[in-house]
Amino acid sequence: MINIHIGIDDVDSINGGCTTHYAVLLAWELRRRGYLFTDYPNLVRLNPAVPWKTRGNGAVALRLSVPSESDVLDIWELARNTLEEYTGLFQDPKKQPGLILHTGDIPWEYKWLAEKALYDIIPLDLAQRVLMKHPETRVYNSRKRGLIGALSAIGYTMQNTDYTYELLAYRKQEYWGRERQVDEMSIIEVDRLYHGELILNYDYDAQRPLITPRGPDPVLLGLRGENPHILLEAFRKIVIHEPVEYIAIYRTNQHTDAHLHRVDSFCNLRPYMCVVVEGVVSSKPTRIPGGHVVFKLCSGECCIDVAVYEPTKKLRDVVEELVVGDRVEVMGCSRPPSSKHGLTLNLEKIRIVELVELVEYVNPKCPVCRSTMESMGRGKGYRCRKCGYRDPRAVKTPIIKPRKIKPGIYQPPPSAFKHLMKPIERIGREKTSFNGVEIEEFIVKLS
Ligand SMILES: [Zn+2]
Repeated sequence: MINIHIGIDDVDSINGGCTTHYAVLLAWELRRRGYLFTDYPNLVRLNPAVPWKTRGNGAVALRLSVPSESDVLDIWELARNTLEEYTGLFQDPKKQPGLILHTGDIPWEYKWLAEKALYDIIPLDLAQRVLMKHPETRVYNSRKRGLIGALSAIGYTMQNTDYTYELLAYRKQEYWGRERQVDEMSIIEVDRLYHGELILNYDYDAQRPLITPRGPDPVLLGLRGENPHILLEAFRKIVIHEPVEYIAIYRTNQHTDAHLHRVDSFCNLRPYMCVVVEGVVSSKPTRIPGGHVVFKLCSGECCIDVAVYEPTKKLRDVVEELVVGDRVEVMGCSRPPSSKHGLTLNLEKIRIVELVELVEYVNPKCPVCRSTMESMGRGKGYRCRKCGYRDPRAVKTPIIKPRKIKPGIYQPPPSAFKHLMKPIERIGREKTSFNGVEIEEFIVKLS
């Protein structure tokens, strides 16, 4: 048997269509022909800060085991023809689709590149150079940027790293662009029924479902969770008033924080990097027009601005309670400096490591009548207005002000979550291994 890995990226289009939809069409045809999948389709989310990203910056890998070299040739031809049909259907000159087929074990360079593509910028020529070392890998168009995502999807195997699942349901083409006919009450019901097993499917604060995307793409809904069996069961309980063409269950790095790369110091931070880094607050957080909160954070010799945006709602209230000297760990992606601000980290989550004692100096109390004394001049002590008591040696009294926040991790509301962000509720539930495809119906054509 020959192991093959098909990487796909950047098949999205403003006219409809998307990478995962093309992947489903291809995967369905491969299943129909009886090929054996060694994994669920993988949906790999890459660096969300990449400036030219497609929505969500998601790439797909399909992994199969086939009997012979002639099957590899057939599959490669099918993948290319399907792509040409698909991109011809949704023509968009700005698109740079990437399609790669690799046979055999995955080279370490692919894995290395994939790790880096999660948190950093990968130049196209770097991906091209890596590919040149491996002539066994077939590449559809090596001059296109989609190559980077396609290669990264192949390289990010999630064999020993954390992952979750997403069940995506696709609409029939005549429904694309129309309002999605999914019963909201049934989404809430399912979310309650499988509490703890599903991830961020309903925002109870904003009272809106998070499973239905907006816009004209072919995805009807995406149900995210920890277990493929439960996703399938939950999906069957959702009331849908339009035909569903396909469902596919993906294994994905969504909600794993896989994009957060630990760095020791802000000195190592470049624009468009996603990091986790510890530092000391060096300016009092302030709320700026638009409702965003910003503060300065330093580690070692280097400082950056941290921005906490309006949609993160109550997370801003936590950050506003920070004072100079507090030690925190920030998680998020950076954007380049502009005329108005320096290198800025857009905050996703924050861990308060250590809070300084907030000491305030107040006028001393009169030992006789307990009222507050007043100063008799600099260095001249204090006197009591009420009873006349004087103390030339009295000084201001330090009092410790209670802090309104506690050490711990703080996150924004569900509506402000992006694909890769791990909810606090998942901490401690991370998966560490993958044992193969457990269910037959991971890809189904329904109508
Ligand atoms: Zn007094």
